[in-house]
Amino acid sequence: MIVEKFLNCLKDSKFVVPYCDRCNAPAWPPVDCCYTCMSKVKLKCTKSLKGHLIEYTTSYHLSKPLVFGIIEIDGIKLVGSVHSSVAPHVGMILKMRNCGISDNGTPYYEFD
Ligand SMILES: [Zn+2]
Repeated sequence: MIVEKFLNCLKDSKFVVPYCDRCNAPAWPPVDCCYTCMSKVKLKCTKSLKGHLIEYTTSYHLSKPLVFGIIEIDGIKLVGSVHSSVAPHVGMILKMRNCGISDNGTPYYEFD
């Protein structure tokens, strides 16, 4: 149920995260019950769409090189593409500029 709501928001390019009603822990990846205390969760916007880059790599699989990284926002980690004008480095602050679901059904997150 929460996963379906999460995906519907993502389809509309809206990023929300399930947080526990009781202990306020993020339930990530999205699930109906808190991973810590099994209480119900509710979808909320994160405090910020800014996070920091934990690790990254460059893919040469596409027509032009593309940087992918693990970005931590508000206690959750996402794998996304990095479109920064400066060279990526661990610890740099990135902001989610777009998110959604691709034609093949895969969620995507774009940062710069
Ligand atoms: Zn909880």
